[in-house]
Amino acid sequence: MPLVTMGPMLKRAQGSRYGIAAFNMIDYNSVRSIVDGATELSAPIIVQVSTKTIKHWGFRPIAGWVKQLAGDTAVPVALHLDHCSDLDIIKGCIDAGWTSVMFDGSSLPFAENVKKSRQAYELSQAAGVGLEAEIGAIGGVEDDKFVAEDKSILANFDECVAFVKEMPKLAVFAPAIGTAHGFYAGEPKIAYDLLERITSAIDVPIALHGGTGLTEEQFHRCIGAGCAKVNISTMHKHRFIEGFLALRAQKPKEAEPLPFIKAQYEAMKSDVRDMIRIFGSEGRAAHAAGHT
Ligand SMILES: [Zn+2]
Repeated sequence: MPLVTMGPMLKRAQGSRYGIAAFNMIDYNSVRSIVDGATELSAPIIVQVSTKTIKHWGFRPIAGWVKQLAGDTAVPVALHLDHCSDLDIIKGCIDAGWTSVMFDGSSLPFAENVKKSRQAYELSQAAGVGLEAEIGAIGGVEDDKFVAEDKSILANFDECVAFVKEMPKLAVFAPAIGTAHGFYAGEPKIAYDLLERITSAIDVPIALHGGTGLTEEQFHRCIGAGCAKVNISTMHKHRFIEGFLALRAQKPKEAEPLPFIKAQYEAMKSDVRDMIRIFGSEGRAAHAAGHT
């Protein structure tokens, strides 16, 4: 089917308390593993892209790969821009056919974050595209931005309420709740009480960033408390590299590249399937698309 916007499917997911996986794509092989993994389990899926990856491949090749693969499957697929503070890149994505974008103004003072997020909101609303926006500081590395885990700042509840009031049709909201990007150095301290206060006060699905390394129980608690979009980036990158190297170790003299590409694909797809099962979105494609 054609690409879908993620807002309506995230609302349905939040209402039924399952999570939709959002994987950060790397290349065509990676997009294929993400879409095929979702197709095999009849799950809705979000393919998201970092600005770094867009700068590497360009807008049109990425949009082409994802549109083609989405067009060949019956599960709903959204194409989303991950953490971005550059409105020109957001515009580039909208023009190339992305169905949602994220504006990350979390490093700005609150008033400035509201002002800039609103500009992205107006752009996205005019184009019929969903917007994700963030408050607080999610720890770890995201593209060139680094926030030490002990320097991450939990979202302020009153600011969350005021922020979303400015953008009532936000597709998904990303408050920092103690998770971090990359692999966790210590035990993540997730502020479940804050998450529950936010979801009971705000009628917008919540994004869970820093999914790599959380336990099944932590995923279930976050999804049960209203996180509808669950981001996985680091683990997918890890599978991309390890899938290749594992076969190389077994076949050091293999000169044909395709078996390596296949090994990467299988390693990434297996992780996609595992996450979909944990997030409870297996068999939910029709529900997320609004058909049931
Ligand atoms: Zn993130």
